[in-house]
Amino acid sequence: MYKTKTKELIYNIIKDSEKPISALEISQFLKSKNKNLHKTTVYRTLEKLLDMDLINKVNSVSGIVFYESLDEHHIHIECSKCKLVKCVNDQEIEKKLYEIEALIKLKGFKVKQEDLSFQGVCNSCN
Ligand SMILES: [Zn+2]
Ligand SMILES: [Zn+2]
Repeated sequence: MYKTKTKELIYNIIKDSEKPISALEISQFLKSKNKNLHKTTVYRTLEKLLDMDLINKVNSVSGIVFYESLDEHHIHIECSKCKLVKCVNDQEIEKKLYEIEALIKLKGFKVKQEDLSFQGVCNSCN
């Protein structure tokens, strides 16, 4: 019972976040809600959610790993100064990404992780 609740709790934080969120940010958020979970518990829960295909891992150039709830195909833009990562969603992009995946399939591969990202500088750092 407790485990399911932890999974739900962390999944909801990721789902409600308007940007990809790191494990550290998840821990800090939990702390601010007076729900202290051990770092190991947070990581273990994230692994479980990844296994269940409920969330997606976003590797950034800065080395920080972000998590987001799995929805449509999209790309990411990362600020090289403050390390903020944002999602760029667009129907045309999504269509293209499905086409790319289909092309990859023709080469005999099944895509397990897709991570298309761009680097730039965000408005607050500019
Ligand atoms: Zn920035
Ligand atoms: Zn995203």
